[in-house]
Amino acid sequence: MDCLFCKILNDDIPSTKVFENENVLGFVDINPMAKKHFLFIHKEHTTDINDLTLTQPNHLVEVFNAIHSFTTDSGLSKTGFRVVTNQGREGGQTVFHTHFHVLGGEQLRGFGS
Ligand code: AMP
Ligand code: ZN
Repeated sequence: MDCLFCKILNDDIPSTKVFENENVLGFVDINPMAKKHFLFIHKEHTTDINDLTLTQPNHLVEVFNAIHSFTTDSGLSKTGFRVVTNQGREGGQTVFHTHFHVLGGEQLRGFGS
């Protein structure tokens, strides 16, 4: 399968990893939209959040447990952070392996703030 994030998982494309366990990888986004910008992915490929929710709902818990561990250990949970997932073309999705943006490290704007 020609999937950028599966290639990152296989180390065919380099990445700066910040978290890894049996199920989940977290790495630095190459084009950061905040001072800290990470991507969290499940190691088993699904295309987007609706595909994941329908076919592998357990992945949600596994990814969010990973985000919990990482943000606790790195201190991000103290200052705050944002989790975003884009679904489909008008949602702004460009990589079709389900991923969760974790943004922080500064005061984030938008969504009411
Ligand atoms: P999205 O637009 O929600 O599909 O998010 C895809 C994200 O992947 C974007 O924020 C890109 O900057 C990021 N990205 C693309 N290629 C790489 C890469 N090789 N390493 C790390 N992040 C990447
Ligand atoms: Zn993939």
